[in-house]
Amino acid sequence: MYHKNLYLILLSTLFLWNISKAQNLDDAQIKANLKQHITYLASDKLEGRETGKKGEQLAEKYIIEQFTKIGLTPMGTDKYVQEFPFTEGVKLGKSSELTDEHKTHKLNVEWYPLPYSCAKGTVKGTLANVKYGIVAPRLGYDDYKGKNDLKGKIFMINISSPDGMSPHSKYTDYSDLRTRIDTAIAHGAAAIIFINSDSTVENPKNDFTNKISPSSIPVVFANANDDLCVFDNAHFTLTVDITRLTHTGHNIIGFIDNGAKNTVVFGAHYDHLGYGGEGSGSLYRGKPAIHHGADDNASGTAALIELARYLKTSNDRNNNYLICAFSGEEKGLLGSNYFVKNPTYPLAKMNYMVNMDMVGRLNETKNLSINGVGSSPVWHSLVDTIKRDGIKVKTTESGIGPSDYTSFYLKDIPVIFFFTGSHNDYHKPSDTEDKINYPGELSVMKIIIAMVNSLNTKGKLEFTKTKEEDSKEAPRFKVTMGVIPDYAFDGEGMRIDGVSDGKPAAKAGLKSGDIVTQMDDFKITDMMSYMKALGIHKKGDTVTLKVKRGNEMKDVKLTF
Ligand SMILES: [Zn+2]
Repeated sequence: MYHKNLYLILLSTLFLWNISKAQNLDDAQIKANLKQHITYLASDKLEGRETGKKGEQLAEKYIIEQFTKIGLTPMGTDKYVQEFPFTEGVKLGKSSELTDEHKTHKLNVEWYPLPYSCAKGTVKGTLANVKYGIVAPRLGYDDYKGKNDLKGKIFMINISSPDGMSPHSKYTDYSDLRTRIDTAIAHGAAAIIFINSDSTVENPKNDFTNKISPSSIPVVFANANDDLCVFDNAHFTLTVDITRLTHTGHNIIGFIDNGAKNTVVFGAHYDHLGYGGEGSGSLYRGKPAIHHGADDNASGTAALIELARYLKTSNDRNNNYLICAFSGEEKGLLGSNYFVKNPTYPLAKMNYMVNMDMVGRLNETKNLSINGVGSSPVWHSLVDTIKRDGIKVKTTESGIGPSDYTSFYLKDIPVIFFFTGSHNDYHKPSDTEDKINYPGELSVMKIIIAMVNSLNTKGKLEFTKTKEEDSKEAPRFKVTMGVIPDYAFDGEGMRIDGVSDGKPAAKAGLKSGDIVTQMDDFKITDMMSYMKALGIHKKGDTVTLKVKRGNEMKDVKLTF
């Protein structure tokens, strides 16, 4: 939608003026500062800045030094710092044990507790094989039918379903583990042992990083090749002893007090993936290696520091400025989520929130993503006026997405999120400092400065709820190509923004920039049709893709 009116023309004029004023910044000095920040934050010494680890604390120390030098007012709970707790990983106590009449099953080899399990408990009982543990009244199917005296028994449940686990399965609505656990508890289960006899189905992950809330009974998985599946009515003793480990992350909060009524919040996360590994969000498959996170998000952190330096002496004094370097973002927006729930500054005074996450890779096509523009009526008209320097702006409406602005949007604060796009080094060790585009990052900073400047006299922005992209409509799928789609791509097909090492797309030789237009007979015109095409496949299927690379069309065989 494009609206031009007098107000807009006025705004555009203001913009021109502001940008030329912004250009009076010492460009060379800012670029040198950005480079200094990113070089340090993304160096080996910081070991990928994993939340709660030594590298995070070195980064914290550096950012505090910068905030102090600039003269920001500390606004954490302990000077600049706001600590937040988080749980990650488990310690399995020595008493964790699964024994039957014949043997003790080896912990972590033959069996392991699932995140659904209660933390501590011992159950002695007989085993009851309840097949898939599925009750599907609409389909007239009930694994518990005719089974009596189940109370207090240890239920053995096969994680597959009567017709397998493909997305075509009739039982999809009844077969997620949580539903089956609740059903089992309702039927009197004292503990659950899941097994897997279906080679096409992946074993459930022993992954306590996911935010799965525990149930009231021990829930474990035992390998199907272990001999316990032959028993019914055998006596078992099952003890789980799980301690969820607590760690501490650190937000860093500074303030510029202009004595104003409203406060603009700037946020960038400074944590990254550490050495990567299972459950970290890494797309790299190899031995543990430092994930440098130069673009993600040393770039945003550097921009945050330099914006703070600029704003400290800026003439735009109708707002105060809250400068937030968040941690725990990569583990699920932990730091910003904690901050909005335990604000060290009143949420009611917050005018709008500007989020910078990955702003260091403006490429030749100069595509800048500006997201969250549905969260205030002001954004659309503003965004229209900042197409300058050959920068092409792509916007998305939603206030909900994979970065810290989501936490603020959910508190009804207008948000805007700047992002120079994904790339092949995203969430890999190769996201290094030498690939940062400093003139590009400076352009992004200037756009933000001009935006803040033109909103200086506009008072508190109106908040609007955004239309959520219809994720509910998306079909479920059991396979993945291992790519990051370019969600902002508006041409025909699914454009690949990044390829995950060792996954089907990488094995098939697909590259970032490729556009997939067809999967077997299924035409792929957009993200929705791409997801539909994925939805009809299962692990092991081989498909032929039509792929556009540059001006060439290729046929590519891919096995899921
Ligand atoms: Zn990230």
